[in-house]
Amino acid sequence: MTSIYPQFVVAKFGGTSVADFDAMNRSAGIVLADDHVRLVVLSASAGVTNLLVELSEGLESRDRMDKIDTLRTIQYNIISRLKAPLVISKEIDQLLENIARLAETALTMPSTSLSDELVSHGELMSSLLFAEVLREREAQAEWFDARKVIRTNNLYGCAEPNINLVEDQAEAHLRPRIEQAIVITQGFIGSDDAGHTTTLGRGGSDYTASLLGEALQAARVDIWTDVAGIYTTDPRIVAQARRIDHISFSEASDMAAFGAKVLHPATLLPAMRKNIPVFVGSSKNTAAGGTLVRRETENPPLYRAIAIRRKQTLLRLHDLHTQPAYRFFAEMFAILAEHRVDVDLVTTSESCIALAVRFFLALHEFRETTAADNSTWVQSPNVG
Ligand code: ADP
Ligand code: ASP
Ligand code: MG
Repeated sequence: MTSIYPQFVVAKFGGTSVADFDAMNRSAGIVLADDHVRLVVLSASAGVTNLLVELSEGLESRDRMDKIDTLRTIQYNIISRLKAPLVISKEIDQLLENIARLAETALTMPSTSLSDELVSHGELMSSLLFAEVLREREAQAEWFDARKVIRTNNLYGCAEPNINLVEDQAEAHLRPRIEQAIVITQGFIGSDDAGHTTTLGRGGSDYTASLLGEALQAARVDIWTDVAGIYTTDPRIVAQARRIDHISFSEASDMAAFGAKVLHPATLLPAMRKNIPVFVGSSKNTAAGGTLVRRETENPPLYRAIAIRRKQTLLRLHDLHTQPAYRFFAEMFAILAEHRVDVDLVTTSESCIALAVRFFLALHEFRETTAADNSTWVQSPNVG
């Protein structure tokens, strides 16, 4: 289909950028200031996903009611500032009722599928409200259910997208909509083949934005957050951190993978595949500029940045020379693959291999698998 918006931009707004009415209004201003923005991807309002995650863990009645009241207050603080709150308040009430019902079920019949269904409500609510904020500013804005397009497997909580299916669905369902209106959709959520709601992992809205940018060949993906770009280290922790104005896909991707929370670790992969520049800036201060991530940068420094990743486990393995090293390594990685354990860092020496892995829980399964053979393992206390 020939597009009337060949240079269109995907704009993603994180939790603090849609935290309340003023933040939403500021973010709406950013959307309206750039005619190229035709697709808007939203996170849940700040704090909402955490509350929903707690509810999905199965809370007793009193705690449950408290959390749902807090959720209602966040939504109604926004609704009360709308000029015509009635229509949207009915839809939000319906979603709050769903949340209450699902949270009650989570106590007696918890499941990962139910958790994803429950936490998806944060993005569903923020996107409905944001579309309304835009309409009240005379924009032609249309709400769109991202689950129609973001098709994933059924690994609830960290579902993996089916890139080809996402492209087909986006072309069929989303492209025609962005020709007609500014489309407002949800980050983070998708659906599996059975039609159940899935999520892409915490912070996954960035990933949604770049997946949709890839699927529709956007000219740029803008990630609007609470910092004016990617810094040499987390500016909230180190005041002397400096903004990096231009950075390559691979450098920024490594930073994200090693803990720079500003981008979900998978965000840059779709952008890299289609060579789509990604801009990162602050929705609170657009004048401050930001970082442009693109294929190449001139004169990259020897050291780019420092990142921190907490909750890492260091695992040291010795095989006591019972087999050739290559076989030992091959078997070890096969076991890790079988258990879907991500390895972040590897170092080897003649007698030992050290791995930094993400999930402590996975190690218990790993220990069971390796206990029967000759290898020994030493697990360090959690690092970070
Ligand atoms: P959003 O809700 O908009 O997705 P996040 O909280 O996920 O925002 O990401 C933004 C945060 O990332 C910043 O507030 C900052 O503390 C953190 N951060 C970590 N490392 C970096 C870095 N190198 N550069 C910029 N921000 C970073
Ligand atoms: N709302 C989700 C989270 O808090 C996804 C996101 O914000 O990117 O993790
Ligand atoms: Mg984020």
